[in-house]
Amino acid sequence: MQGVGFRPWVHQLAHAHMLSGYVLNSTLGVTIEIEGSEEDQLRFLSDFHSHPPLLAVIDEVHEEILEPIGHAAFEIRESRAAPGEFVLIPPDIAVCEDCLADFRDPSNRRWGYPFTNCTHCGPRYTIIQDIPYDRRLTTMSEFRMCPACDAEYHDPSDRRFHAQPNACPECGPWVELWDRERCLSSRSEAIRETQRRLEAGRIVAIKGLGGFHLACLASNEDSMRLLRERKRRSDKPFAVMARDLSAIEAMCCLSDADRAALTSVRRPIVLLPRREASHVAAQVAPGIGWIGVMLPYTPLHHLLFDGAAFDALVMTSGNLSEEPIASRNEEVAMRLHTLADDFLLHNRKIQTRVDDSVVRTFEGRERTLRRSRGYAPHPIELGVPVQQILACGGELKNVFCLTKTHYAVLSQHIGDLENLETLEVFEETIQHMKRFFRISPVGVAYDLHPRYLSTRFALSLQGVEKIGVQHHHAHIASCMAENHLEGRVIGVAFDGTGYGTDGKIWGGEFLVCDYAGFKRWAHFRYVPLAGGDTAVRQTWRSALAYLQDAGVDTGFLADQVSADAFRLVQTMLTRGVNTVETSSCGRLFDAVAAVTGVRLEANYEGQGAMELEALAVRAALPADDAYPFDIANGQLDFRETMRGVVRDRGRPGIASGRFHNTLAQAVAEICSRIAASERIHRICLSGGTFQNFHLLGRTVERLRHASFEVYLHSRVPPNDGGLCLGQAVVANHQLTSK
Ligand SMILES: [Zn+2]
Ligand SMILES: [Zn+2]
Repeated sequence: MQGVGFRPWVHQLAHAHMLSGYVLNSTLGVTIEIEGSEEDQLRFLSDFHSHPPLLAVIDEVHEEILEPIGHAAFEIRESRAAPGEFVLIPPDIAVCEDCLADFRDPSNRRWGYPFTNCTHCGPRYTIIQDIPYDRRLTTMSEFRMCPACDAEYHDPSDRRFHAQPNACPECGPWVELWDRERCLSSRSEAIRETQRRLEAGRIVAIKGLGGFHLACLASNEDSMRLLRERKRRSDKPFAVMARDLSAIEAMCCLSDADRAALTSVRRPIVLLPRREASHVAAQVAPGIGWIGVMLPYTPLHHLLFDGAAFDALVMTSGNLSEEPIASRNEEVAMRLHTLADDFLLHNRKIQTRVDDSVVRTFEGRERTLRRSRGYAPHPIELGVPVQQILACGGELKNVFCLTKTHYAVLSQHIGDLENLETLEVFEETIQHMKRFFRISPVGVAYDLHPRYLSTRFALSLQGVEKIGVQHHHAHIASCMAENHLEGRVIGVAFDGTGYGTDGKIWGGEFLVCDYAGFKRWAHFRYVPLAGGDTAVRQTWRSALAYLQDAGVDTGFLADQVSADAFRLVQTMLTRGVNTVETSSCGRLFDAVAAVTGVRLEANYEGQGAMELEALAVRAALPADDAYPFDIANGQLDFRETMRGVVRDRGRPGIASGRFHNTLAQAVAEICSRIAASERIHRICLSGGTFQNFHLLGRTVERLRHASFEVYLHSRVPPNDGGLCLGQAVVANHQLTSK
């Protein structure tokens, strides 16, 4: 991969062992030729294997003895991007320890400089305009290096040798603090003034690596209430950036895997169980059991915390709900004008907007929920050759992917494809990545939902083979692909909404599938959903549907919502007007959330389910404490379950705990039946519902106990952000088997 400091490191190593030769990047990997005494060569190899650079990923090493040809010295040969060549583009990387030391050292020329970086760290994907990765093709091209920086850049023994974004206070970008009218201060003074303004409870828009954050004190209820009001985001959780690990320990409980994820060079947001006695305002993540926390990842973030009176800041992406993240200064002036009081800007352009990534750990491993900064566009290795394909992904949390050779390159998180702005970003990013990776797709894969903008886009393309892939088949294929599975598996796909081959809304699905196709072995019993998207917001509508289906008196629910609305929905359900049948697992969670009074209306996707998860974790019931359920005609029938939930509705914790256990038991029961008839013992779990780690844990436990091999997602999200990978491998199978 370019930009990870591999060649300079080899150069230094060769020098240290007095070897001549060269190092060269090519499509095959890195080629190194060394000439010298056998002893020196062996020492070189031993160092090579034991201390590779932090960011280098070495898959395989082949060694070969050559005739000496008398290299005069050791040199780094220029790599060239041939047409059609596949070059790996590095993601953005958190500031390294050495650079941290540089800008904190008063005697260093980079003291207090927020754009310090080296070959081991700093911006990459967000500043690259084209390949090869070279300064003139980045947004740093407009800054001419001063003699000191230039000398570092050309010195193979320097940590900044060929560090493309290399800069210093003399020659590089700088920061300025603005209020809504004018520039208040610049450089170090701007950072100090920003600290003071944050401490005073103001909301500051801060330009970062891949876009803007809106920042305010994480301990201040008033600023946060204001931020929620301005962002029109009533209770969707905010991410928090904390000064250091000990500040995080004060807020959350950490496992070793959490610590590793937090401090990795990718610096994702990690979802962590919240400590009851934390000083972080309840407003950060109301009603749910975890907080999304990250550590500072740019020098600017570190400088904001240095000497400040606060330990934690809310850092939420600088956009209105559902709009793409803002990346340009002018755009911010327009769009964030009403959201922030002050603006900490800088003049390094952002070529590609990239949100913070989100992970959670499970069984000691990082599980990606939003794969963006630090991860994209690092490719997923597929283990098998693939055709060049564009897979357009879904509607919510859109991510698309491009495949070539053995790789799937997933885009950064694009967002919810529900408006023109996001659609533009989607189309721009596709063009951009096709150029970067020299990919000309022969096939395009898309979701079957006729109204998804990504589907419409795919169908509008000319001169490519078009392949529709069913939503849940794509989820399972995605899980198979990242686990390098071939052959048939049992796929359990649980989520909110996915268009079915019968035109109904699927979401509680048991498939037997491979890349070629799927059989829908079982699914949740259909219930009518009244009013489509409105039903997703008004969770009580799902409750009413489930209660009527189960023949339970709905009086207690009627008391909690407006009488007119209740009657209207009741009529719709009874007469089947403006209803669609659904087997959605998300709607079943909604129903339970509403019946137990936990949530009658959701303010963001999955809110009811997240609150139920928090309650179930706290209730900590034994795994066999569950409700009954039925299985008939390939349908999983929860009417008996709902009757149990209704009885327990005064004790939401108990009800939620039992409900989670019921689902886990139902999964195990159906999978056992499938295994008995189909002789398959491998199970893939996928779909947005499995972001619920209480459900995931209980389900995996049951399945393992029944001797199944269980496969989960790790590098690709289980939610719709992972759909594109499944679409791509299914399409690839169709194209190759023709
Ligand atoms: Zn560095
Ligand atoms: Zn300089």
